[in-house]
Amino acid sequence: MRVVVTGGAGFIGGNLCRELSARTGVDQVVALDDLSTGRAENLEGSGAELVEGSILDQGLLADVLACADAVVHLAARPSIPRSLAAPVASHAANATGTLLLLEACRRRSVHVVAASSSSVYGGTPDLPKHEDLPTRPLSPYGASKLAAEAYTLAYGASFGLPVLALRFFNVYGPLQAADHAYAAVVPVFIDAALRDEPLTVHGDGLQTRDFTFVGTVVAVLADAVLRKVTSRRPVNLAFGTRVSILELTRRLSAVLDRPVRLAHVPPRPGDVRDSQAADGRLRRLFPGVEAVPLDAGLERTVAWF
Ligand code: NAD
Repeated sequence: MRVVVTGGAGFIGGNLCRELSARTGVDQVVALDDLSTGRAENLEGSGAELVEGSILDQGLLADVLACADAVVHLAARPSIPRSLAAPVASHAANATGTLLLLEACRRRSVHVVAASSSSVYGGTPDLPKHEDLPTRPLSPYGASKLAAEAYTLAYGASFGLPVLALRFFNVYGPLQAADHAYAAVVPVFIDAALRDEPLTVHGDGLQTRDFTFVGTVVAVLADAVLRKVTSRRPVNLAFGTRVSILELTRRLSAVLDRPVRLAHVPPRPGDVRDSQAADGRLRRLFPGVEAVPLDAGLERTVAWF
C-alpha cells in the first residue's frame, strides 16, 4: 500500500509518517509538504519520502497521487490567531487546498482521511460536542475547516469517493513546536516551565479543552488507512476528557515535579470557552482504540523536549 500524507512534515504528520512506516501492509509513505510550518527534520528516521511543494499546485498533486492508495490530508494553516491575521490565506490552504486534493483523488477513487477540527463547533454551548450539533465557527480558521470537511463529505456523497473526516480536538505530543507565535498551549507551557518562566494563561484559565495525545491520534489514522474506514458523517477524534487550562498547569507541575508560576493576560478573540468531545461514533468505528491518558502523554511530551 502507498500512502500520501499531506502536511507530513508537520507535528501530527511527522508522527503519522513514523506510525505508518512501522505498520505491516504499508509499503511506501510519501509526505507532501510546503514546509510553511512543517520541518524536514520532523521526518528524519521516519521512513517517509518528502516531496516539497504545495497542495495548491494541481500538477504536483496529480504526480504525487498517481500511484497512491490512500491520502491522509493534514496540510493546513492550523492556527486561529493566524487566520484572524490573514483569513484569505487560511481559506486558500485549508478550504481551496482540500477541494483541489479531492479533485485529484476523485479521478482515481483514492481513500481520503481528512483532518477536520473541533473549531467547527465554535459557539455552540452544548457539551459534550456530538457530531450532530449545529456548527457555528467563531474564527476564519474554523470556517475554513468546516468548508474543507463539508467538501470532503460531499465528495463522498456526490462521487462515491471513500472518505473519512475526523474532527481533531487539542492534540499534543512530541514534535509540536513551542517556538513560534502561534504555538499550542501544551508545548508553550512545557517550554516556559522548563525555563522557570511564568505560564501565560488567557482569561481566567477555567476554559476547558479535550486534550488528545498525538500517539493516540496517529494510531487511529493508521488504522483508518489500513482498514479503509469511511463515514458519511464527521467523526470526533477525542475521548471526552475535559480539562481546564488551570488544571493543565497543575498536572504539568506534578509531571515536572516543580512548582509553576502563572501570568494571566486577556482572553484571545476567536477562542471557544469549553470543549469536550462525544466519542461514541469514534468508538463504534474504532472499537479497539485506547487513548493514552493525559499524565502519561505529558510525561512522554516532556521527555521529548
Ligand atoms: P502543523 O502546522 O504542524 O502541520 C501542518 C502542515 O501542513 C505543516 O507541515 C505545513 O508546512 C503544511 N502545509 C501548510 N500549508 C500547506 C500547503 N499549501 N501545501 C502543503 N503543505 C502545507 O499542524 P498540525 O497540528 O500537525 O495539524 C495537522 C492538521 O490537523 C491540520 O489540518 C490542522 O488543521 C488539524 N488539527 C490540528 C489540531 C491540533 O491540536 N494540532 C487540532 C485540530 C485540527
